[in-house]
Amino acid sequence: MSDGIKKGTTIYTGKPFAFVVKSEHRTTRCDNCLKSEKLLRCTGCQYVYYCDRNCQKKSWPIHKAECVHLKKILSQGLLIKNIDEIRLVARIIIKLNQGGADEIDYYNEKKLKFKDLMSHYSDIKADTKRQLHFSLLYGMLFQFLDKTLVPDFEEVMGIWGRMCTNYFSITNDLDSIGIGIYLGASKVDHSCKPNATFVFEGTTIIIRTIMDLPSLDLSQIRIAYIGLLHSKKKRRELLHNMHYFWCDCERCKNEEPMAKAAACPNSSCDSPCSIEADECEKCSTKISIEFKETFQRISDFTANHLKELDRFDNEKIIFLSKTYLKMQKGVMHKFNVQHIQTLFTIHITSLNLEWFKDAELYAKKLLPGLLLYYGEVCPLIGLLYFTIGKLELLNNKPKEALQTLSKADTLLRITHGDKHSLVKEKLMFLIFIAMKVVHNM
Ligand SMILES: [Zn+2]
Ligand SMILES: [Zn+2]
Ligand SMILES: [Zn+2]
Ligand SMILES: [Zn+2]
Repeated sequence: MSDGIKKGTTIYTGKPFAFVVKSEHRTTRCDNCLKSEKLLRCTGCQYVYYCDRNCQKKSWPIHKAECVHLKKILSQGLLIKNIDEIRLVARIIIKLNQGGADEIDYYNEKKLKFKDLMSHYSDIKADTKRQLHFSLLYGMLFQFLDKTLVPDFEEVMGIWGRMCTNYFSITNDLDSIGIGIYLGASKVDHSCKPNATFVFEGTTIIIRTIMDLPSLDLSQIRIAYIGLLHSKKKRRELLHNMHYFWCDCERCKNEEPMAKAAACPNSSCDSPCSIEADECEKCSTKISIEFKETFQRISDFTANHLKELDRFDNEKIIFLSKTYLKMQKGVMHKFNVQHIQTLFTIHITSLNLEWFKDAELYAKKLLPGLLLYYGEVCPLIGLLYFTIGKLELLNNKPKEALQTLSKADTLLRITHGDKHSLVKEKLMFLIFIAMKVVHNM
């Protein structure tokens, strides 16, 4: 296998064509490089922040056209819910105006310009909900840019269509901190069983293989456009609504009965049961109408709860999630995605509250389910081991921490690479501390 490539090979890196820092991170992330250090505020708009003069200078050609408008919007105290989305459209327009239309990137030896991205123009035209959303956005755009810069309705719809079907959420560890357009990377197709993944270092996107491949054929590289902790039906809906295609990947061709399964009413049987079936396939325990109704009710409650998390503060989220968790017991299968999402919610919320014991406990409860839906080699799993290791260290279990961090090390070297700051700085630091404590150094 002379030209085979190993998992953990970088196959593409790219800088964004355009990007914005998400508004909830604007005071803690540099608007130019996304670093999170001591930041200085732009004295013009007082909206964006920078590391230093250097970052401000680099960002100025683009920011110049939005600065005065952001200042006005801020002074009017307007609360704009989709400000990030509008800012990104505005920035793409500014960039196209400054010669960005000729900017070229390459993927698989093909030249790519912004206009080469799929716009899904006719899909969007036929999508009444999106049409309405776009009409409002088009109106708002005049608050963000000089009138003279805003192209006509149809042209902006083409730009917006390219943006919303091709954007990447820029992450730092598990946090989504920005949104950006990457020309080359947007040519990589989707699979729910991907052979590659993408991570970010600052604003740079890095695509790396997560499986050994027989050859370096870039047309065969697949990444996951969406989170994979969903049933097949839900994944297909998400992909269709966001990207206008019906996923027919290797994984979607198979049934995944686990994802929506009930627990077997016989508590000593761990077989996943379909709620449509009349008895358990494994132990033949009858699934009564009452059991089915209870399952449906709890499933609906959980779905509603997970949808409405932003209505509550962290402590209330934990209280409610634990209540639903209790209700799920004995009714929902342990690999039902709603159950795993509930565990995930408690883990993340506990982390936010710095409730380290709960955060560790629920991370460990969560892990088997995530492994099932994501597979071992993916950024999420490596990051979860990283987090668990850190929590074990905080909870005074340095020996366990060292073992867990070594698992994180193996995985993150594949998904992120030796040179990534997560591995080189953050992980090495934690391992160093754990070693020090274990060996009493
Ligand atoms: Zn910076
Ligand atoms: Zn400014
Ligand atoms: Zn699929
Ligand atoms: Zn059974």
